[in-house]
Amino acid sequence: MPSSSDTPPQTAKLPPLRETIAKYGLGARKALGQHFLLDINLTRRIARSAAPLDQGTVIEIGPGPGGLTRGLLEEGARKVIAIEKDSRCLEALRELAEAYPGRLELIAGDALEIDISQLGEGPRQIVANLPYNVSTALLVQWLALLNKDPSTLTAMTLMFQKEVAERLHAVPRSKDYGRLSILTQWLCEISLLFDVPKQAFTPPPKVVSTIAGLRPRPKPLSPADMPSLERITAAAFGQRRKMLRQSLKSVAENPSSLLAGCDIEETKRAEELSVEDFCALARAVKQ
Ligand code: SAM
Repeated sequence: MPSSSDTPPQTAKLPPLRETIAKYGLGARKALGQHFLLDINLTRRIARSAAPLDQGTVIEIGPGPGGLTRGLLEEGARKVIAIEKDSRCLEALRELAEAYPGRLELIAGDALEIDISQLGEGPRQIVANLPYNVSTALLVQWLALLNKDPSTLTAMTLMFQKEVAERLHAVPRSKDYGRLSILTQWLCEISLLFDVPKQAFTPPPKVVSTIAGLRPRPKPLSPADMPSLERITAAAFGQRRKMLRQSLKSVAENPSSLLAGCDIEETKRAEELSVEDFCALARAVKQ
């Protein structure tokens, strides 16, 4: 595997990304959340934070012109399977696949419609600078796969808008704590690795981005069924200023007795409950 301080020979064969973008006319499309990373030092840093890369399969969502894909391959990824919705990018990516024979497979399509648990050999991990417009929908889809089988993925190294990353990582009683924090922390340990400034992207987005590292837990933090957990958190945080005896009326005929059965004070608000409390409520609602 090449060391991170060397410039591996493959790099020299490829034109700079700006040339690739010009050659294939890859002007960024807002509707596809396209903000490209062109700095190979940065994309290699992201790739390194997902190490080890030399086993199994790295699944990349939205490679675009291939900046992060280059970083992954240069940092020694054994096999990258990249899913891209924008057909314009695929021709440019084919050049990259030729420079790394057998190590880059391209899938043209919408990642929301692809079951990533079937791709490549395990162990599988996802590394992606996610398209912002579908980042949380994709994450919830992958969490559902992990809920079925925690061994589906060994890790996810994902770039989100900073405020989304903070929501995933938020603790009870903080303003960012909500449905996404609970679903994510229920199934994964999460750490916020580093921020990426707006100027690092072409074109720059309106907000700062953050790389988050998610490690799937061998089993969920507490037993619960995911649809019930989603229902209960949606109801509770849908009216986050209200006491739970009020906000849970849409999921339980008698929220007071539901809460009492779980040893939770009915005057509490959603943001005061732990992930385990929500799991207890999800189990009680299911019954
Ligand atoms: N990985 C590249 C980089 O870091 O420079 C591009 C990242 S850009 C933020 C998001 C990429 O996701 C774009 O290339 C876009 O075309 C692609 N994309 C958007 N929606 C997608 C979807 N539903 N499925 C697959 N790719 C998608």
